[in-house]
Amino acid sequence: MKTLNAFIGATALAALSLFSASANAAGYPERQITMIVPFAAGGPTDTVARLVAESMSKNLGQQIIVENVGGAGGSLGAGRVASADADGYTVLLHHIGMATSATLYRKLSYDTLNAFDYVGLVTEVPMTLLARKDMEAKDLKGLIEYAKANADKVTVANAGIGAASHLCGMLFMSAIETPLVTVPYKGTGPAMTDLLGGQVDIMCDQTTNTTKQIQGGTVKAYAVTSPERLDVLKDLPTVTEAGLPGLTVGIWHGLYTPKGTPKEAIDKLSAALKVALKDQNVAARFAELGTKPSSEQDATPEALKAKLESEIARWKPIIEAAGQYAD
Ligand code: ASP
Repeated sequence: MKTLNAFIGATALAALSLFSASANAAGYPERQITMIVPFAAGGPTDTVARLVAESMSKNLGQQIIVENVGGAGGSLGAGRVASADADGYTVLLHHIGMATSATLYRKLSYDTLNAFDYVGLVTEVPMTLLARKDMEAKDLKGLIEYAKANADKVTVANAGIGAASHLCGMLFMSAIETPLVTVPYKGTGPAMTDLLGGQVDIMCDQTTNTTKQIQGGTVKAYAVTSPERLDVLKDLPTVTEAGLPGLTVGIWHGLYTPKGTPKEAIDKLSAALKVALKDQNVAARFAELGTKPSSEQDATPEALKAKLESEIARWKPIIEAAGQYAD
């Protein structure tokens, strides 16, 4: 009898807490939301996140605060969100690294496909292969020759294993069959500072961080990883034109919440994301930075889930062939 009473008590309590979760979710959002960016401030992911967060805040009627949790190629920040309360007040803006890290890391603090709910795709950003301004190589062919001849001292900056910059650097080194010296940062924001100062030689990074630098001539740019040239960087050849077609890659970004987030909250976040991606100001800033917002059909939980699953499958054999893992 005692057990039965305890059981009924526990069930009633569980029902009550479910009820109050969804009652709370009905009024969502009632307070500030934190958007975790798993890289340092001032980098390409941070730039995308701040533009989208600002516009979503207006729609949701509550402030979205961006918090940078850089380290371990984005997996520290993703882990933080995986273990946060699933109440819709903590969200994660992460990119392709969510998919590559699932294979690159032998151990992650979260189970990529089971630790998150999905809000939608945000944008797909091309990357650019850069070097410090005084790099003597004039084109990609020259850069490859230089890298091969100086492999033990040429440094390549990245934002840690799992970052897009790491993936692009790995594809570059595989394509030229030459391992170079990699230098990890908490994000390519700080890495760019070192590239500008000439402390590192090469970096591959999203156009949301590099377009202004390339236009201003503060770095040397060799190629863009999109299939077509970009309107804002017309003179920059594609990697295919420059001779490395295997480097063609788009850095897709998605918005996630911890698994178990009430549907009402996800629906509101997804609706606000769609509005933000249609915001003229967001579209104009994205265009200046060489990218564009995801379409309305892609700004959905289903599209992001499908993208993550297909990208894990796509990159797994490539990463395994490169034989690069982190513990
Ligand atoms: N998105 C960059 C990368 O993956 C890192 C950053 O945003 O700082 O390399």
